[in-house]
Amino acid sequence: MSEAAKSRLFNMPGFPKPVPKPRGRVQPYEVKMTPNMGMGVFATRDIKMGELVFAERPLFGGPKNINMLSLEVPGSGFLAQKLVLDEYEKLLELCVERMSEANRTGYTGLTNSHKEDGSGPLTGISRTNGYGVAEVFDGVGPKPISDDFRYAFVGNTASRINHSCLHNVVRTFDIAAFAFVFTAVLDIKAGEQIFYPYCNIEASVAVRRRQLAPYGIVCECRVCTNATPESDKFREEYRSSTVELFAQAQQVMTGKSWPTNDEFRELLIFQKAAIEEGLHAVSAYQGILGALTFAHMGRGHVAKVQELQVKMQKFAGIF
Ligand SMILES: [Zn+2]
Repeated sequence: MSEAAKSRLFNMPGFPKPVPKPRGRVQPYEVKMTPNMGMGVFATRDIKMGELVFAERPLFGGPKNINMLSLEVPGSGFLAQKLVLDEYEKLLELCVERMSEANRTGYTGLTNSHKEDGSGPLTGISRTNGYGVAEVFDGVGPKPISDDFRYAFVGNTASRINHSCLHNVVRTFDIAAFAFVFTAVLDIKAGEQIFYPYCNIEASVAVRRRQLAPYGIVCECRVCTNATPESDKFREEYRSSTVELFAQAQQVMTGKSWPTNDEFRELLIFQKAAIEEGLHAVSAYQGILGALTFAHMGRGHVAKVQELQVKMQKFAGIF
């Protein structure tokens, strides 16, 4: 890690904070074999939206784009890249050797989908399983010059969460605790698998497939299987649609009579479509919750307004 990245981290107020723990004495998740996705992470009890599922320190971290390192090596691009990959593998061998036995077993047991690109086996695991962490990057500025200067971290449990476009957790990185934090974005039932999207789920199915290809994943979730040009369009326009809806709903505050029966029905249909597409698990859903709150306000449904306000606050706190 660069000096600048290190000093930003060490000067973080509260660093190093203990890793946050989920409520209750028994951990709310377990790692076990799935029939078709290798290992996976499952809920061991009902988990409510907004609850911490787990937090953990990474097993290993390094530059998100290893190829960037080759820019510092003089000589031809290909040879420089090979040299960097070989050196990186040696460095990783040292890191893995220093891990506890449990962590070493955890790390070496992870999937490797970079077997054909010159990466060594440990480097391949890092490239396959590393989550890009926005908060840790090289350079002195408050923000990195580009995504290439960010770091990626591998987690023992975090990297065993499988992909689905119908996800139920969101991931943040608590810098002061130096830990991944996974929070339930929907209510999760005991026994359900925990899913995190490895692609941009606000993109069309074609784009999602392209983004998932490097992981060797062909997603067979409901929304990929049932994707149509209409559902792609809905997804791609979802974020801006929710902003528009929310702006329209704010008319209630200016005393305008809103919504009409038709407008109210349309809003509910839009919400239903969002849920059907799994888009009630992304931050833009706040726009729908906000619009619904105003719509019920306009109709004088006091109890419903209060209920939605509580939900909105809880939902907003996740992101
Ligand atoms: Zn999918």
